[in-house]
Amino acid sequence: MKKILVLIIFLIMGRAEAAGWSPELRIGLLSEVEEISLQVSAPCIMIDAASKKTLKKFPADKKFTVKAKEIKTDAVEIRPEKISIKDLRSTIGEKEYFGGVRLNKVNKKFVVINLVPIEEYLRGVLPDEMSPSYPLEALKAQAVAARSFALKNREKHKKEGFDLCDKTHCQVYAGAKIFESTDKAVEETRGEILTYKDKLIETSFHADSGGMTENVSDVWGRAMPYLVAVKEVFKQVEPWTVKVSVKDFSSRFGDNFGTLKEIKLSDLRIGKSANDRTSSGRVNFAQIVGTKKTLKLEGTELRRKFSLPSTLFDMKIVDNEVIFTGYGSGHGVGMSQKGARSYALDGWSYKKILEHYYHDSKLKRLY
Ligand SMILES: [Zn+2]
Repeated sequence: MKKILVLIIFLIMGRAEAAGWSPELRIGLLSEVEEISLQVSAPCIMIDAASKKTLKKFPADKKFTVKAKEIKTDAVEIRPEKISIKDLRSTIGEKEYFGGVRLNKVNKKFVVINLVPIEEYLRGVLPDEMSPSYPLEALKAQAVAARSFALKNREKHKKEGFDLCDKTHCQVYAGAKIFESTDKAVEETRGEILTYKDKLIETSFHADSGGMTENVSDVWGRAMPYLVAVKEVFKQVEPWTVKVSVKDFSSRFGDNFGTLKEIKLSDLRIGKSANDRTSSGRVNFAQIVGTKKTLKLEGTELRRKFSLPSTLFDMKIVDNEVIFTGYGSGHGVGMSQKGARSYALDGWSYKKILEHYYHDSKLKRLY
């Protein structure tokens, strides 16, 4: 009898999952909040997160305020009474979100958290990570990368009581955004993640590789077999240029440096390494010779100091200026979004795009 019951429950759950279930995420939105204005699209209950006891009921489409000093438990959750959480919309402050709300009490104030199934979360992430005007297969590749990232990094804010924040530190998440193209990309890749040897992978991505992506070890030190430099077959013809006067350049390195006299850096050839360049051609280090001192600077440091789009650049003194000429935008690790767009326009499927940028990875469907 028990076995039959378990089987029935299993079947019901299976059916519920088929109807759109996906893992629920806790996205941290605000902290140190004394009171918060909320509105829900369907009747909701406020429960004590620990005991699950109902504390209050909220009707649909009516603004209400929850004050931290009135909440006596450590955390409360606002969840729909009858419908699935994925179909609920909550207006938190001024912004609308998919899903419900959790309020954690920390030092007598609230940490405001959005409780959102990952598929709905991705609908809010995708339009900010990639333009909805990009071709569908590129958007689908981005959806799989963003889904894998979210699940891989779920422990990032564990100490603060949620999974991910809504900023670039994790992934930019702008709440309930609706675009036909990005929604379709999420839906058509539902539950799909990228794995390597059966484990979820770190799906880093960036705006534009400039012709070749980068080994993760050359950017963040630790090697990963699936984040290796790959060439892009098309040509990125338009270089970017940044000009700084020799005087301004020199002043960035202090009085002990003097005035810039010479730059020692080999010429850029994309995909060709040198003693001062990585295997993709990005600047590993450059030497700058001043009238008082010579400095050895890492490419990433130069990029930061002079707000350069990437580290794939040449650097020369011409007359009284230092001219940086380079390609691409971003750290160069993993998928290039501009590259994904070009491949998709060439007819590549999202699977082929992902295989290209995440070497030897395998696409798997989690649910
Ligand atoms: Zn974060």
